[in-house]
Amino acid sequence: MNVLVVNAGSSSLKYQLITVETREILAKGACERIGLGESTFSNSMNGQKMELTLPIPNHRTAISLVLGILLKNETDGKPSNITIDAIGHRIVHGGSYFKDSCIVDDEVVRKIEEIAPLAPLHNYAAASVIESCREVLPSIPNIVSFDTSFHATIPEVAWRYALPRDLCEQLKLRKYGFHGINHRYVNMTVNELTGGKAHKIVSCHLGNGSSITSIKDGIAVDTTMGFTPLDGLVMGTRCGSIDPATVTYIIENTNLTAHEVDTIMNKKSGLLAVSGFTNDIRDLIESTEAGHPQAKLALDMFCYSAKKYLGAMWAVMGGIDTVVFTAGAGQNSPYIRTKTLEGMEHLGFVIDEEKNQERHDEPWSIAAPEATVNIFVIPAGEEFMIAYDVKRLLS
Ligand code: ADP
Repeated sequence: MNVLVVNAGSSSLKYQLITVETREILAKGACERIGLGESTFSNSMNGQKMELTLPIPNHRTAISLVLGILLKNETDGKPSNITIDAIGHRIVHGGSYFKDSCIVDDEVVRKIEEIAPLAPLHNYAAASVIESCREVLPSIPNIVSFDTSFHATIPEVAWRYALPRDLCEQLKLRKYGFHGINHRYVNMTVNELTGGKAHKIVSCHLGNGSSITSIKDGIAVDTTMGFTPLDGLVMGTRCGSIDPATVTYIIENTNLTAHEVDTIMNKKSGLLAVSGFTNDIRDLIESTEAGHPQAKLALDMFCYSAKKYLGAMWAVMGGIDTVVFTAGAGQNSPYIRTKTLEGMEHLGFVIDEEKNQERHDEPWSIAAPEATVNIFVIPAGEEFMIAYDVKRLLS
């Protein structure tokens, strides 16, 4: 089955056409800077790459371009023989309503739009892409997978905010959690790797956006992101968890508006703010090794916050039997993995430094023989997880 996986961001639309059974990627590409001018459209398939700069005013135009090139059945005159059997859409927010992925109908689209105030930049874009797909290819089923739904099993003691109940109900305030599609992929992959013998898993998704989820007997029991992706770990440009009174104090003592403070906390904080020059972890490691003190502090804070939440998850689950590193820095950086687990050897988290330096496209273990905890690196697999959902729901 060939599944077109579509990921509509606020100003981008990324896609992969995947054969589910073989995990082969038949085509992939992206529309970037949608609605911002100087938009680009890149595609690679049949060993051919192309990139165009052209006006892409909105997500409907973007998905038309993508479907056009995939279904034209030719690249540079050569037939591609590509077929699309179904389309899977990544949706950032499913609110409290969507507890699993599902097949799209009118009611599902209406609900995604109803939830959109919780993630306005993403959900409206995704809803318009789904509508376009249904109009252009009415006989092809659409499936939606949500970044929030894996966290639907988190108990109330962990998801409820200790704020007045009527305010929480009126504004739908609670912990939702994000990155759930990848955390679910990590859980599935660990099950395959251990033959179902892992019962207390911690999935460390360490990228530009970062979150840690604890998974007990296959279900999420807590996660670090909250009502929005701002909560939890120190991230690339997000501040992570801070005293909430800081926000009102800033607004009361500066001329900044609430919107401006929100922008600062999401786009100008985190590693970028602490280092003073970049949110790119590769650059920060290089600068740290060259003796840059603020780069070192930024990385130390990043790994310290990951370690602290690992400890919290250890307490919440009554131990950890498997820890996983995934996403940009988690799957690529030996430095980040070592620093995060440093000092936790007495709890069984012992890394084999040789295995840690390896690089693979497939999951691998970096646990030392004396470790009492499984330590895996699992390359992120959101696209495959969505394609897998499509097959599961249509079978
Ligand atoms: P996003 O949250 O945008 O999806 P990614 O998961 O792609 O982010 O992660 C991006 C981060 O991963 C960047 O900070 C980047 O520097 C870091 N990263 C990627 N490759 C490496 C590497 N080899 N070593 C260290 N960090 C890396």
